[in-house]
Amino acid sequence: MIENKFDLFVIGGGSGGVRAARVASSNGLKVGLAEGWDLGGTCVNRGCVPKKLYAYASHIGDDFDLIDSFGWSITKKKFSWKKLVNNKKKELSRLNDIYSSLLTNSGVKIFKGYASFLNPNSIKIGNKIINAKKFLIAVGTKPRKLDFLASDEIITSDEAFDLKKLPKSIMILGGGYIAVEFASIFNGLGVDTTICIRGKKILKGFDDDVVEHLMNNMKRKGVKFITEEFPQQITKKSNLFYVNFKKSTPKKFNLVMEAVGRQANIENLNLKVAKIKISKNSSIIVNDYFETSNKDIYAIGDVIDRIQLTPVAIAEAMTLVQNFKRKKKEKFSYNNVPTAVFSNPNFACVGYTETEAKRKFKNIEVFKSNFRPLKFSLSDVKEKIFLKLITNKSNNKVIGLHYLGENAAEIIQGFSVAVVNGLKKSDFDKTIGIHPSSAEEIVTLKK
Ligand code: FAD
Repeated sequence: MIENKFDLFVIGGGSGGVRAARVASSNGLKVGLAEGWDLGGTCVNRGCVPKKLYAYASHIGDDFDLIDSFGWSITKKKFSWKKLVNNKKKELSRLNDIYSSLLTNSGVKIFKGYASFLNPNSIKIGNKIINAKKFLIAVGTKPRKLDFLASDEIITSDEAFDLKKLPKSIMILGGGYIAVEFASIFNGLGVDTTICIRGKKILKGFDDDVVEHLMNNMKRKGVKFITEEFPQQITKKSNLFYVNFKKSTPKKFNLVMEAVGRQANIENLNLKVAKIKISKNSSIIVNDYFETSNKDIYAIGDVIDRIQLTPVAIAEAMTLVQNFKRKKKEKFSYNNVPTAVFSNPNFACVGYTETEAKRKFKNIEVFKSNFRPLKFSLSDVKEKIFLKLITNKSNNKVIGLHYLGENAAEIIQGFSVAVVNGLKKSDFDKTIGIHPSSAEEIVTLKK
């Protein structure tokens, strides 16, 4: 069966694809969308949303350490992983339905199945052939896998969400934000958790000071780190993973998880026949306007490997569709994208790290604060909030803000409006703090 009627056909129903399809259709284009898995993509089904729900679940454990200091006591503390997984499944299926209605209500025709190009103007989904004037590829990424003897049984974040039961111990390979967030989740839920990294520190590219404070906090909460090391081989015997390292003594774990990067979901797309060029790491190459090497085919989101975050994929989709509408070519700015790591404690930032700022500006000023929040003052909890604000000394503008502590993402989201709009430290200083709060510290920082 051949379908001919589309102005735009979107391949991939994740964060970027759904937004582009919905808005393009609302703007009067005839739009179709193919999704091979569940609508909503990685973020809804195997990323941001379930991850944050699990982070809430695991960080709640910390409140049990505090309740006594506030006069409360509970007699029974019991956690059910099965209940959490089931509740998560229900919520995700609700979200899948919302995505489906959003698309159909805005006039997008949904095709269930994986698409692959037949030629530059048509794709195949199952036994359907679809022709369109323009295509948009928004197929995202999947976890990268390493080659060990036990590879088939080593999990990635995809499987971590639906484990039948929690392991007693886990080793997580990798130090990126996904590894760090899952380490905090497992640790908070009572799993003996170890992170193994090639370097000395986790979270490459984030501010060194904050990362150090985060690692110390995670260690205090019980996460173990194996640094400057990587497994030579991992085997599995009678429900245990045996890990041999280059330098360290061999270790045993109940489960091993790899969080060692992501790779573009392109292998089934048959990009060659569509004359689409890819980079060395298999992401799709696009210009400033998301045009691939084939001018009728665009790509956005994680598959183009710029900043791999949901709000960025959505903003890229909006830029592309606005450009269609206005018949203009506007670029999307990747500057000052705020971001968070939902570790325990949370960490969020906007702007430059101290190292980047030193490289970019002649003179910078760094303000830091490390303090015990009021919430912990009645208890033995040792955790402190650490924050760092960086200015360009020549014009007093705030060029970096980094916060490690409870609600970091909520706090930085608000302050990022000030940083994105080039406000000065003096503007922060003349803002009255909300007392008592932890965020008030950001507007009262002194040298
Ligand atoms: P995706 O959302 O990955 O969607 C691509 C879709 O295309 C998928 O549904 C896939 O099934 C489909 N597809 C693939 N090939 C085909 C084909 N041939 N035909 C049809 N369909 C196809 N971002 C944040 O901003 N905040 C977070 O807290 C956060 N946490 C994350 C946690 C984890 C564990 C992971 C893995 C990611 C996280 N992300 C987070 C990143 C975020 O999920 C992605 O940046 C975002 O989903 C990218 O959107 P996308 O549209 O490019 O691709």
